[in-house]
Amino acid sequence: MRAVQYRTVGSEPEVVEIPTPEPGPGQVRLKVTAAGLCHSDSFVMSLPEGAYELPMTLGHEGAGVVDALGSGVTGVVPGESVAVYGAWGCGVCHACARGAENYCARAAELGIKPPGLGAPGALAEYLIVDDVRHLVPLGDLDPVGAVSLTDAGLTPYHAIVSSLGALPAGSTAVVIGAGGLGHIGIQILRAISGATVIALDVSEEKLKLAREVGAHRALHSDDSAVAAIRQLTGGVGAQAVFDFVGNASTLEIARASVAMDGVIQIVGIGGAVLPTGFFSTPMGATVRAPYWGTRSELIDVLGLARSGAIHVETERFTLDEAPEAYRRLHEGTLRGRAVVVP
Ligand code: NAD
Ligand code: ZN
Ligand code: ZN
Repeated sequence: MRAVQYRTVGSEPEVVEIPTPEPGPGQVRLKVTAAGLCHSDSFVMSLPEGAYELPMTLGHEGAGVVDALGSGVTGVVPGESVAVYGAWGCGVCHACARGAENYCARAAELGIKPPGLGAPGALAEYLIVDDVRHLVPLGDLDPVGAVSLTDAGLTPYHAIVSSLGALPAGSTAVVIGAGGLGHIGIQILRAISGATVIALDVSEEKLKLAREVGAHRALHSDDSAVAAIRQLTGGVGAQAVFDFVGNASTLEIARASVAMDGVIQIVGIGGAVLPTGFFSTPMGATVRAPYWGTRSELIDVLGLARSGAIHVETERFTLDEAPEAYRRLHEGTLRGRAVVVP
């Protein structure tokens, strides 16, 4: 089969021919119908030698049609259209029992890695999923439109749900970065919270997209942003700030624009650090760095899409075009999410 692999540190991903994998006991093989590209893939490809075992098939947003079942598999039938819950855990610990496999206590110790982030990923013709519990039925949702909900939808949803108590009618939420995650985050905030949504980005195109998907205001992410947010909130600041970038300048905007008793959710893995303490963050403010989301939250997010409350802006690519899609992601010129259709 053909697959998009990251093969050599410092090189671009390559389209290669590799053996089609066979499902082992308990595993399911999918014929991939869609796979999304995430900015975290760029981060993975920026890491030094040894961070990941190479070559590695990329893609941690996957959807497919059930194609072959390993021995002992029940609960799905060939031909079924499914999305992959990618934050694989052990399935047994307390976090996993709650469906929060993203916070599995034993994944590291057991060497369990998500597809595309250690295990072979979805940017290929076929994908092995380790367990039926990591599949969520798509029903009649279009896989190309839905695949990115498994990360670019689920991750903001997980962050927003944990801050929902801070976001009643009349409150303000700030979304920093209106890219893959951010443009869906804006829609989720509009759908499930009462907040006025202020989006920030450095690109005029992304600010336009932010307005189109429901942001009440879309502002340049620069020195003027904090004063504008303070002015729009009567001096109070935002009850929640969702930072989908996480660099030094965005964390400073988050720190300076959050309200007292508000919450900053650092979702972007830009790697900067936010000093938190009595004299650096507003009184009572909480800072959190959430990771991905739970299985049941993925089902919620697919439900929001099914009801028409949220949708993913996609740019479609073939497997051969995937390296070009990664270039566009790196340049910041994609609208919404890049989705590869093998
Ligand atoms: P993306 O490239 O699609 O979007 C990033 C957006 O941020 C772009 O619109 C870009 O113009 C904008 N931006 C860049 N610099 C900015 C600045 N200084 N101020 C405001 N906006 C700025 O990326 P994505 O795939 O949506 O991922 C967003 C981030 O979230 C990445 O860091 C990614 O690695 C991370 N991520 C984290 C998790 C998690 O579980 N915590 C999950 C998925 C992705
Ligand atoms: Zn991701
Ligand atoms: Zn676990």
